[in-house]
Amino acid sequence: MKLRKLLFASTLLFVIYGALHAQNTQVIAHRGFWKTDGSAQNSIAALVKADSIHCYGSEFDVWLTADNKLVVDHDGVRNGVRLEASTGKEYTANILDNGENLSTLQQYLDKGKQLKTRLILELKSHKTPERETSAVEQIVKLIKDMGLEERTEYISFSRHACGEFIRLAPKGTPVYYLDGNLTPQELKEMGLAGPDYHHSVFKKHPEWIKQCHELGMKVNVWTVNSQEDMEWLIGQNVDFITTDEPVLLQNILRD
Ligand code: MG
Repeated sequence: MKLRKLLFASTLLFVIYGALHAQNTQVIAHRGFWKTDGSAQNSIAALVKADSIHCYGSEFDVWLTADNKLVVDHDGVRNGVRLEASTGKEYTANILDNGENLSTLQQYLDKGKQLKTRLILELKSHKTPERETSAVEQIVKLIKDMGLEERTEYISFSRHACGEFIRLAPKGTPVYYLDGNLTPQELKEMGLAGPDYHHSVFKKHPEWIKQCHELGMKVNVWTVNSQEDMEWLIGQNVDFITTDEPVLLQNILRD
């Protein structure tokens, strides 16, 4: 009888633990919630729509133009014109798929400030480390001036940019590294909050998820758009999933 009670209690604990963990995975909209009417990747509308469906965070991409203006865009090239060789004025004349002008970071954050969703700011890799340092200095100052320090997290493929965010942002600001080539131990030693890796990296190294958690780090995964991958990662207890399909992910998490 005692054994049965013990078995029952431990099963119950296991179920509760599993349920709690399953709910822990948070949704980050990749380039905002753009796969919906009136939206476009990295548009202000996509940020507003990510907030309207209560995403934990909304991811967006930031570059520095030739005249040192911070703008929001992914590729950094439009109509054959490179962002790093353009002025802010020239580059923000580009029109996004939903009819919005491409925005400056200031315009983007002005709207973000009115919302609740967390701002997952990706700094793209620039031509030189000096350009990245200059971008990080400006971003950290702007985020501070706007009172958004508590709501902003930084991500980058550039190790240099990640190091600069760690050096210049307030202590404890989450900074995640995007390229899948550092082990959990190496991420920890750099002072990162954790990996934000492509899902194929965790398929190859599923043990890294647990190792990151044991080292006190969190795990983000991009860009996860299939139900099968989402379910696998939720089962692995990842902390964040970055997706172009936030509604699908929310529905899976609700089930
Ligand atoms: Mg990005």
